Amino acid sequence: MELWFTEEHTKNVRFSIKVEKQLVSKQGDFQRIDVFDTKEFGRILTLDGYLMVTEKDEFIYHEMITHVPMAVNPAIKKVLVIGAGDGGTIRELTRYTSIEWIDMVEIDQEVVNVCKEYLPQTACKLEDERVHIHYEDGLKFVRKPVNMYDLIIVDSTDPFGPGEGLFTKEFYGNCFKALTDQGILINQHESPYYESDANAMQRAHRNIKAVFPVSEVYQMHIPTYPSGHWMFGFASKGLSPIKDLNAEWWNQLGLETRYYNTDLHLGAFALPNYVKKLLMECE
Ligand code: SAM
Repeated sequence: MELWFTEEHTKNVRFSIKVEKQLVSKQGDFQRIDVFDTKEFGRILTLDGYLMVTEKDEFIYHEMITHVPMAVNPAIKKVLVIGAGDGGTIRELTRYTSIEWIDMVEIDQEVVNVCKEYLPQTACKLEDERVHIHYEDGLKFVRKPVNMYDLIIVDSTDPFGPGEGLFTKEFYGNCFKALTDQGILINQHESPYYESDANAMQRAHRNIKAVFPVSEVYQMHIPTYPSGHWMFGFASKGLSPIKDLNAEWWNQLGLETRYYNTDLHLGAFALPNYVKKLLMECE
């Protein structure tokens, strides 16, 4: 008998991975959590049946969500991470000795518990003494701080279920307020390819543009996400991801990465024409 994990990427497209073994399946307060072992992608985590992390390609997502802003502002010391229960973003951030404090706000404690037990590859730095985990809704958490964080990373699920509020104008407005003058917001920006993902990407872009003077989008290749073509947003009060890239500083750190480098940093902001058009429609 064969066991397969299948995710619907659209009503007419499905993506399947052959499963060796199911390790966990639990219905938490916020979402259903599953962990599987697979031959092709190693261990994988799904939430409500949507693929979040695979051991094989998580490095692409987590390197691109952290090293892009860090290479733009070496003075980043205080960071807020929203979501990110698998720990991959925290693992990359804790490689910077210059970072002094990280608040991580994850709505679902069960995701963190499961990842600590089954996904040590990503969860390995959640105990770092600079990391302070708050189990609450990021939408509410971000209403309080003012001028407090140099970097906010929104490493969320998609814009439905618990993640829905993290794509709203109210949320981005509060992020603006919570950031310092040199602050940067990086967000999970969906994909331009399939229509429903492209609509979500446009909605997010429109809402961020309404709040931040600098609002750029960059791309990467994530084989297990719908279409494989995924985007993050880079928003700031003034810093440019291109003009302010401090390649010399970042390269002298000597961090070993598998996907990110400072040439790719610049290239990732060069977008295909159809993506530019989608983003221009948000003007
Ligand atoms: N790093 C992952 C990847 O590679 O795709 C992304 C997903 S991470 C598991 C997303 C996390 O966001 C989930 O653990 C989910 O519980 C959390 N989340 C969703 N909505 C949230 C909210 N409103 N506030 C805080 N965390 C939220």
